[in-house]
Amino acid sequence: MAHAAERVIVIGAGPVGLCLSLALAQEDVRVTLIETLGDNNFLEQVPRAGTNHPATLEMYDRIGLYRNLEPRGIIAPVFHYWDRAAGELIAAFDHIHLKDDTRFPYVLQCERIKIVEEALKMAKAHPGIDLRLSTPFTHFEQNGRGVVAHVVNPAGEAESIAGAYLVSAEGARSIVRKDLGIEFEGFTYSDLTLNIEVAYDFRRHGYAERNYISDPVEWSNLFHWKGPPDRWRVHFPVASSEDQEAVCRPETLQARLQRLLSTGRDFDIVASNLYTVHQRVAKKFRIGRAILVGDAAHVNSPIGAMGMNSGVHDAFNLADKLVKILRGEWGEEVLDRYERQRRHVAIQHTQAQTIRNKRLLGEKDPAVRKRNQDQLRRTAEDPVEARAFLLRSSLIESLREAEQIA
Ligand SMILES: Cc1cc2nc3c(=O)[nH]c(=O)nc-3n(C[C@H](O)[C@H](O)[C@H](O)COP(=O)(O)OP(=O)(O)OC[C@H]3O[C@@H](n4cnc5c(N)ncnc54)[C@H](O)[C@@H]3O)c2cc1C
Repeated sequence: MAHAAERVIVIGAGPVGLCLSLALAQEDVRVTLIETLGDNNFLEQVPRAGTNHPATLEMYDRIGLYRNLEPRGIIAPVFHYWDRAAGELIAAFDHIHLKDDTRFPYVLQCERIKIVEEALKMAKAHPGIDLRLSTPFTHFEQNGRGVVAHVVNPAGEAESIAGAYLVSAEGARSIVRKDLGIEFEGFTYSDLTLNIEVAYDFRRHGYAERNYISDPVEWSNLFHWKGPPDRWRVHFPVASSEDQEAVCRPETLQARLQRLLSTGRDFDIVASNLYTVHQRVAKKFRIGRAILVGDAAHVNSPIGAMGMNSGVHDAFNLADKLVKILRGEWGEEVLDRYERQRRHVAIQHTQAQTIRNKRLLGEKDPAVRKRNQDQLRRTAEDPVEARAFLLRSSLIESLREAEQIA
């Protein structure tokens, strides 16, 4: 293990940077993990992503994280497609069809904030991880032998940290990606996504823990999170022409919720936020010793829960390669394979499926809507078709396909 002492510098303690750091450190690779947030504000982040697919659960399990997450989440084997206008359940997909494909034939509804909280505790306890909170990364340099990351430490001083590789897990605004001049190819949707979190049990109306509700005017996602108090997240599209301040007023939020489900009583709104949705993939995932993972490399709409999941899959793919490189077992060219594998997944799976999902939910042509819904119904009712559908929607197929890429 002569080379294992070489350090990997990971920027960003989001779910992707934390998983990568733990996977590396558990194989005796020394890691410096740099995060701009500190103990005083780390848990003040918006919950964001929260559906964890079966293959991601296997990865969490590999680093010992799953056992800490399960008690904080909701095991959800089934998800639904609904038609809003008809109030009709179109299709129910049960992950039990994947029982021979995964040890976890369900998703775990567990929000990003809980994942980073639990993973951060593990990172703090690991002697191989030099965790630098309250330390914004500013820029870096590299040459053929290594990298130097420049940060501002908690005392406000500029500091330089040297390592063998630098991984940007900084999220969508990655400084590394911008400094490397890597294009973030794709587009931004003209409509925004409104996220409202309410304490109300939608299951009494027949909904599952995770629902996609189609409508030509106002589609929704509806997801259940564990409390206390239990919360449900409802997504709505909002036209960019709408007055954003007015959209977020309590009475406007109530009216929108009542249009979805008329209960005659105000919903208990716990939180709300409005955000822009991008569909973008970096043109390169690696230049020299600087590598992109997670949202730094690709971003997509939340419909289908693929952003955080595919980012975590990047982290484990890359960890396996960096470990072998640093042990001197593999050459650096395997990092090009990382790019080939994970860009393929980002474009052909994550982007393709999330774009299709959004189109499906908001389809305006009644004939196409009917055809799509009939197809979904048939797929869910046929065990062979349902398994094939779930292999795709849970990203298991994307991982199998990536394995075939040389
Ligand atoms: C508002 C919003 C809502 C979302 N909602 C959903 C959803 O409902 N469902 C879904 O599937 N996905 C959702 N996503 C996407 C999902 O949260 C991301 O795919 C996932 O968090 C990506 O993980 P990551 O670790 O790559 O990046 P992030 O989670 O963004 O983590 C990046 C980390 O890097 C740190 N950082 C950034 N810059 C620096 C720097 N210069 N120096 C040091 N540290 C730095 C940040 O503080 C952060 O901790 C949402 C995203 C946003 C922005």
